[in-house]
Amino acid sequence: MTSTVEPSTAETSTVEPSTAETSTVEPSTAESFSALLGAERVLPGGPEASAYLRDFSWYSPILENALADTTVDAVVRPQSVEELTACVAEAARLRVPLTLRGAGTGNYGQSLPLRSGVVVDVRGVAGVLDVTAGRISVLPGTVMKDAEDAARATGQELAVMPSTYRISTASGFISGGSGGIGAAANGDLWGDNVLAVEMLSVEEEPRLVRLEGDDVRPVLHTYGTIGVLTRIELRLVPAHDYTPVVVAFRDFATLTGFAHDLVSGDIHVRLCSVHEAVGAAMLAPISSLYEPGEDVALVLVDSGQLDALRAAVEAAGGRTVEWTVKPHISQFPFSHTILWARKAVPDSSWLQCEYASDRTEFLAQVAEVRERYAGIFLQHVEFARTGERTRPLGITPLVGLADHEDALEELLGFCRALGMTVLNPHSYVVEEGGYVGDTSQVVALKETCDPYGLLNPGKLGDSFFTSRGLTPPSARAATARR
Ligand SMILES: Cc1cc2nc3c(=O)[nH]c(=O)nc-3n(C[C@H](O)[C@H](O)[C@H](O)COP(=O)(O)OP(=O)(O)OC[C@H]3O[C@@H](n4cnc5c(N)ncnc54)[C@H](O)[C@@H]3O)c2cc1C
Repeated sequence: MTSTVEPSTAETSTVEPSTAETSTVEPSTAESFSALLGAERVLPGGPEASAYLRDFSWYSPILENALADTTVDAVVRPQSVEELTACVAEAARLRVPLTLRGAGTGNYGQSLPLRSGVVVDVRGVAGVLDVTAGRISVLPGTVMKDAEDAARATGQELAVMPSTYRISTASGFISGGSGGIGAAANGDLWGDNVLAVEMLSVEEEPRLVRLEGDDVRPVLHTYGTIGVLTRIELRLVPAHDYTPVVVAFRDFATLTGFAHDLVSGDIHVRLCSVHEAVGAAMLAPISSLYEPGEDVALVLVDSGQLDALRAAVEAAGGRTVEWTVKPHISQFPFSHTILWARKAVPDSSWLQCEYASDRTEFLAQVAEVRERYAGIFLQHVEFARTGERTRPLGITPLVGLADHEDALEELLGFCRALGMTVLNPHSYVVEEGGYVGDTSQVVALKETCDPYGLLNPGKLGDSFFTSRGLTPPSARAATARR
């Protein structure tokens, strides 16, 4: 009767014992990293990890919208370079995207993973390694203020640090930032202020790569797409004692010319942040220091040269106001200005640009933009001085731009036609944002250090409109016309 009990083909195929017994469930990404670091230092994706999917890209309505649905498979928190190295090796083995993150204060979604995967919080890998004359070496997650304090203990100060220095990290600053407090005296990140870095390649057996001098440039402001930084060496300069003051004028052109002269001259200033009256009024906690209608510069001046500054301001027809308010001056310049503008006008936006270095050309550009975009393009100028060159940089609140995307394109075109360099803060792609220049060296280094293309994918060599499958305005317009 063997024929009647013969199992059907269907039955044998569904209960095939050998397949069922040998198939293993692959551990999730979070489980793989938990096995490496311990579960307490791994957050699975989902609500618990949502704080890691936010940064300060909400400054831009375009980015806010584009990044609203990012996800992450796991957030990992190594506490040492060895653990960081193990995480990098594991990501390479699993071929999962790897995005590094410091304090998450970046403005362009730099630390937000476009293609999910693992986010590595580097704040646990922190500490000052060494301070010598002119140089401080730190671990990647070191808070910039801790580096500044360590430098000051030796009579030195950081050549440049971001206005978020109280919370932002060394690796986040050099990968995501550009300049800040100190730039008015010592230039920005590209002004020989990052002396060396060490980074890991993203491979099953990560290699340690050391870059010095000009060779560090590919990792500056390239959003952590080249390698995983493990050591950062920053330039120190002799420390000064600083006094914060407000310089106020009743004519913006005079103030801007004065500020350019000040930064280019002999009075030592660590910061000279210029604001036209409308924007200055939005710096709510300090606006009681000046009169409505006054254009102001927020200045950190060498305390021994305060009298010289006062005399120069008076001679140019302005006045100097003592800093009698509680908030620290660092809470108002650079991108902090945008924070206050967004508070005052919640649907305002922003732009970054660089004016001509030449004083006359700079003043002419400012005047033309003011005439065309009065009350919309709120002039806010910071300075970076490198040697004899003074570079005026605009970090500009944009108020009342109707139909933001199209109006923005028109405004960018107007600025470019004046010879200004426009840095688009509404993209998370390196080449479309603040990185100006040839990226071929950057791409070549990435190919050797990140052979599987796992580091922060979509941010380098891609386009805002293809990285996450968005539609460019030009294509949208073409569709609408049809
Ligand atoms: C109010 C405000 C004011 C600001 N002022 C300034 C300013 O004055 N100057 C300025 O330059 N910027 C400024 N910024 C931008 C930002 O705060 C700084 O660039 C800051 O230094 C970024 O540091 P972070 O630790 O927050 O980095 P994150 O935002 O966490 O990361 C920035 C980038 O660094 C990468 N990264 C982090 N660690 C590593 C690592 N170990 N290896 C490789 N890549 C890594 C990340 O992937 C990301 O791409 C400001 C932002 C805000 C919101």
